[in-house]
Amino acid sequence: MTAPRIAACPRCGTSTRLDPQNVWRPFCSERCKLIDLGDWMSGRYALPVAEDPEAAADQDGE
Ligand SMILES: [Zn+2]
Repeated sequence: MTAPRIAACPRCGTSTRLDPQNVWRPFCSERCKLIDLGDWMSGRYALPVAEDPEAAADQDGE
């Protein structure tokens, strides 16, 4: 029951303990956590500006 749960850090793959003592879990360190969070936020906030072909086709409606 007390076996530590080990998982690979999602960021760098380092074996990381998932117990409460690891405040950066599931990451191995603050650095990995911040890097991952930064990637996630930039990916979500940077909306794609790809043109929507259906919107363009809408012009000849009516
Ligand atoms: Zn890591």
